[in-house]
Amino acid sequence: MAEFNDRETRSVIPGMPVRCTECEGQLKYRGLGQYVCTDCGNIEMDDYGKVRYYLEKHPGANQRDVSIATGVPAARIRQLLLDERIEITAASGLFLNCEMCGKAIRSGVRCPECEQKYQNKLEQERRANKAKNPISGHAAIGPKGPGEMRFLK
Ligand SMILES: [Zn+2]
Ligand SMILES: [Zn+2]
Repeated sequence: MAEFNDRETRSVIPGMPVRCTECEGQLKYRGLGQYVCTDCGNIEMDDYGKVRYYLEKHPGANQRDVSIATGVPAARIRQLLLDERIEITAASGLFLNCEMCGKAIRSGVRCPECEQKYQNKLEQERRANKAKNPISGHAAIGPKGPGEMRFLK
């Protein structure tokens, strides 16, 4: 199997097949991560093609299922999602996982709750920094009243 050493020579497309596994024939790219053997017509797929094909057959699959079934590492599936080479549609069960709590999400790196917490934390840090280095002159950090508060729930 050429799968272990094609990484060095074919680093541009992860998991890109080099030869037909049926007859060792030449492969020609035919789009969507699929390659067709010019000798026997066998279809080979790179990582993107495998994931895409699997999702077409199993629209409800989650990221772990896809990874196990295709042999494509979850990190690479995630990268395909982040690169927007795979689309997450409402019909698709393919999910990303929230970086903070691990909950399934459809886009981004955090679920809405964690995103909120994350933003609040950033804001707190920003305020703490401001408090440490108060802006001289006008009362730039004066209390603004409850109108500035956000509801968390
Ligand atoms: Zn072939
Ligand atoms: Zn979360």
